[in-house]
Amino acid sequence: MQTTNIPIVKDLVLVGGGHSQIAVLKKFGMKPLPGVRLTLICKDVMTPYSGMLPGLIAGHYSFEETHIDLGRLSRFAGARFYNDAAVGLDLANKRVLCRTRPPVAYDLLSLNIGSAPVTSSVPGAAENAVPVKPIDRFVVRWEQLRERVLARGKPTRIGVVGGGAGGVEILLAIQYRLQRLLAADGQGGMDPQCNLITDTAEILPTHNPRVRSKFRRVLRERGVQVYTGHRAVEVEPGLIRCDNGSELALDEMLWVTWAGAAGWVAETGLDVDERGFIRVNHFLQSTSHPEVFAAGDIATMINHLRPKAGVFAVRQGPKLTKNLRRALLDRPLKPYVPQKQFLSLVSTGDRYAVASRSGWALEGRAVWRWKDWIDRRFMDKFGDLPEMPESAGADIPRGLADRDAIREISALAMRCGGCGAKVGSTLLTRALARLEPVARKDVLVGLHAPDDAAVVAVPPDRVMVHTVDFFRAIVDDPYLFGKIAANHSLGDIFAMGAEPQTALAIATLPYGLEAKVEDTLTQLLTGALEVLNDSGTALVGGHTGEGAELALGFAVNGLVEQDRVLSKGGLQTGDRLVLTKPLGTGTLFAADMRHKAKGPWIQAALTSMLQSNQQAARCLHRYRATACTDVTGFGLLGHLVEMLKPAGVDVELDLGAVPLLEGALETIALGIASSLQPQNLRLRRAISDLEAVADDPRYPLLFDPQTAGGLLAGVPADAAEACVAELRRSGYERTAIIGQVQPRGEGLESVHLLR
Ligand SMILES: Cc1cc2nc3c(=O)[nH]c(=O)nc-3n(C[C@H](O)[C@H](O)[C@H](O)COP(=O)(O)OP(=O)(O)OC[C@H]3O[C@@H](n4cnc5c(N)ncnc54)[C@H](O)[C@@H]3O)c2cc1C
Repeated sequence: MQTTNIPIVKDLVLVGGGHSQIAVLKKFGMKPLPGVRLTLICKDVMTPYSGMLPGLIAGHYSFEETHIDLGRLSRFAGARFYNDAAVGLDLANKRVLCRTRPPVAYDLLSLNIGSAPVTSSVPGAAENAVPVKPIDRFVVRWEQLRERVLARGKPTRIGVVGGGAGGVEILLAIQYRLQRLLAADGQGGMDPQCNLITDTAEILPTHNPRVRSKFRRVLRERGVQVYTGHRAVEVEPGLIRCDNGSELALDEMLWVTWAGAAGWVAETGLDVDERGFIRVNHFLQSTSHPEVFAAGDIATMINHLRPKAGVFAVRQGPKLTKNLRRALLDRPLKPYVPQKQFLSLVSTGDRYAVASRSGWALEGRAVWRWKDWIDRRFMDKFGDLPEMPESAGADIPRGLADRDAIREISALAMRCGGCGAKVGSTLLTRALARLEPVARKDVLVGLHAPDDAAVVAVPPDRVMVHTVDFFRAIVDDPYLFGKIAANHSLGDIFAMGAEPQTALAIATLPYGLEAKVEDTLTQLLTGALEVLNDSGTALVGGHTGEGAELALGFAVNGLVEQDRVLSKGGLQTGDRLVLTKPLGTGTLFAADMRHKAKGPWIQAALTSMLQSNQQAARCLHRYRATACTDVTGFGLLGHLVEMLKPAGVDVELDLGAVPLLEGALETIALGIASSLQPQNLRLRRAISDLEAVADDPRYPLLFDPQTAGGLLAGVPADAAEACVAELRRSGYERTAIIGQVQPRGEGLESVHLLR
C-alpha cells in the first residue's frame, strides 16, 4: 500500500534476507529515501541467525529467539515483502525471475542469499546426507532426525562430515541434546556414537593451535571419534566411503563442508568466481554489472578474500546500505576493507564456549555467556522495532531522478491537480497485450476483439447471476492483491451455487512514472487473471483510472440452473452450520499495518485468502446445502444474521468451534481491529446472552470483516459430518461445524452463543 504522495522513482530490490540485508531493511526503516521503493524477495519468512543455530539445536533457545521475522521487518522498512525464491535474473531487462510469481523489475538489485554445503561433488551425498544449510531446512530435518533417534531402540551412529567450526559446533550440540532427550525418554544407555570426518589434517584448520588443542580435548572427553585426513568420496545409505579406502558405517550423516553458491547464480551472466560466487569489488558491487550488489556468503570480494562466515555478512550490512543509498542518489561509492582478524566464539553444546582470535584462545562458561549476550543483543536490534513518524511530505532527494524522470514528475504534479483521468491507452494496451484471458465460446465480443462493450451469450437453460466488489489494496504486492481481489469477487458467485462466466475489471492505480505504473498494472492483472482463468472466468473488459491509492474490483457474471440457485434464506431447523475458512483477516491486516503481526501469521492469512471457494461450493451442493453465503465485510455475525432473517430461524452458535487464523486471538486481544469492525458491532443486538459471552476473547472475532473469506452454509444434519470430512480432504482443512439451526424463539435475539 503506497501511502505517500511521492511517486516511485527507483526500485531497490533485495533478494535474500541474509545477515547483511536485514541491516539494510532496518536502516531504510529508520531513514527512508523518498521516491525509492524497497522490495524484499525471500523464500523464508523467518530467517535464521546462524550464530545461535547450535544453541537452538542444543535446546538453549527457542525458534523465535533464533529467527528474524522478515515480514515484520519489511513492514517496518516500508518494503514490499515477496515470499518467494529467486530462480534467475534477466539482467538485460533488469528483472528478477521468481519461482511462483511474475518477474520483479529493479533499478538497483542486491543479493544476500547465503551459501550451502556442496553435496553434488560426492556421489550419494545429496540423497543420503542432511546438509546443514539452508539452515531453515536443516531445522526441520533435525526435528525428523531427533524422532528417528528416539525411535531406534539402540544407539545411533552419527557422522558429521566437515571439521570446521560449523561441523564441530553442530556435532557437539546434537550430542548434548540427544543425550538429554534419550535420558528424559528413559533410554539413558542409548547415547549416540558421534563421529567427525574431515579431509584436513587437523580439525578447525582456520583457527589457531590453542583453539584446536582445546577442541581436541573436548571431543576426546565427550567420546567423539575424530577422523582427520578422511575425504568422503561416496555416500550410500548407512555408509560413507573415504579416499583412503576406509568405510564408516553410520545411521545418520550430516554435511557441513565448504560452502558453494546456488547453481542459478552462475547462469545469470553475472561475473562469478570458480565456485559460482558473485565477484564484487570493494564497494560490494558486481564486477560485471554496476547496478547489482552482493554481500555475505554469496559475494566474493575480489580484492579482499575472506572465509565465508556470518561475521563478515553482518559487518557488510551497514556498508552495503551506505553504498546502495549512494548508488540510488548517483553519488560516488565508498570502498570497504573487511577486517583480517575476527573474534569467533565457538560453543561446545553445553553452555560452554571457546573464544578464538589470531593466536589467542580462551574457554569457559563465561565465554558462552559472553557469546549469548552478543547474540541476543544482535537479535534484539531486529525484534525491537521503534515507532517511526510518517515520512509523507518529504521531497525526492537530489540525484535520485534523472532529467527525464524529473520532467515526468513535474507533468504528474500538474495532472494530480485536477483531471484524475484514465490511465494512458498505450500503457494499458501494452499491459493487456501480456495477458491471456481464458477463451469461452459464449463470449462473442471480449478482449480478443475489443469493442465499446463485451457481448456474452446466456444459454437458454440458465439464469445469470451478477455481482460487483471493489476495494483498496490490503497488501503491498499488486500481484497478490490482484489474486485476492479476483478471488474475493468470485466468492459471491460461488455462494449462489453458480459457475462464473465473465468478469469486468475496474482498477485505480496510484500516479507515477509510466514505467512503474505499467509494471504495477501488469502485476495486478497477471495475478487477477491467474485466478479468473483457473475458475474458467473470461475477463472481457474493464476500466482503469488514476487515483491516490491502488484499488481493484470486478463485476462478475455467473450462470446457474434456476432451481439450483443457493440463496441465503433457505436454512432449515436442524441444519448444521458449516464454515469453510478460519476468521481473522481484518484484525491481522490491521495489526500488520502497525507492525504488530508476525510474518508467518500474515503469510498464513494470505494463503487462506488465496484459496478459491469454487470446490467448496460444489461440495456443499453435493451434500444438499440448504443455504449459503460468503463471509466478507460484515463479519461472521453480520452474514449469519442475513441468513437467519429470511429463513425465520434462530441459531445456536458454538464460539469454541469457530476456526480462527493463527495470531487473530493475539491481535484482537491487543485491541487491534479493522476500521470496519465498529459498524459490524452494531449487530451484537442479535445475540441473546450477550453479557455471558462478551468477555470471551473469541467474541470480537465474530465481527471481524473478512477479505476473501470462506463459505457459511446450512447442511442437513445427516450429511454434515461427511460434508465437512470431504471439504477437509479437498483442502479446506479448517472447515468446521460451528452451530445448529433452531426454530425461531420468542425473544428478539436470534443468535444463542455457546462458549
Ligand atoms: C552450524 C553453523 C554455525 C555457524 N556459526 C557461525 C558463527 O557462529 N559465526 C559466523 O560468523 N558464521 C557462522 N556460520 C557461517 C554462517 O552461517 C554463514 O556465513 C552466514 O549464514 C552467511 O550469511 P548470509 O547473510 O550470506 O546468508 P544466510 O544467512 O544464509 O541468509 C540467506 C538468506 O537468503 C534467503 N535465500 C536463499 N536463497 C534464496 C533465493 N533463491 N531467493 C530468495 N531468498 C533466498 C534465505 O532464505 C536466507 O534468508 C555458521 C554456519 C553453520 C552451518
